[in-house]
Amino acid sequence: MTDAVRTVFEGQARHAWSIDQLHEVVCGALGAADYSSVFRAVTVMEREGAIRRIDLGDGKAYYEVGEDHHEHVRCDSCGRVAEVPGCVLDDATSGVQKSTGYVVTSHQLVFGGLCPRCAKRRSR
Ligand SMILES: [Zn+2]
Ligand SMILES: [Zn+2]
Repeated sequence: MTDAVRTVFEGQARHAWSIDQLHEVVCGALGAADYSSVFRAVTVMEREGAIRRIDLGDGKAYYEVGEDHHEHVRCDSCGRVAEVPGCVLDDATSGVQKSTGYVVTSHQLVFGGLCPRCAKRRSR
């Protein structure tokens, strides 16, 4: 099962996957798959550091292939998630440290909007 899930991540059809989305694709590939086996495979891969969990602000857990820190932008219409290259918050982080006294080690930021495809469809 871990191999099947790994293949889905390697296919990169999406930038970030929820367990539901992974389960759907794995079911399509294998004919049938247990939700709990998909969940277990994801847990193992996360522990290995092959993927990591990200929060896109809708309360669901998403997973992406582990890479450098970056922000995300999500389409409000179709839900497609893309990577925003680099970190746009370096300056903001030092501002937050100064104003709160906290040592800031992480942040989660998701831009919302319309992906190019949906923006085009809407303007028609
Ligand atoms: Zn869209
Ligand atoms: Zn990402």
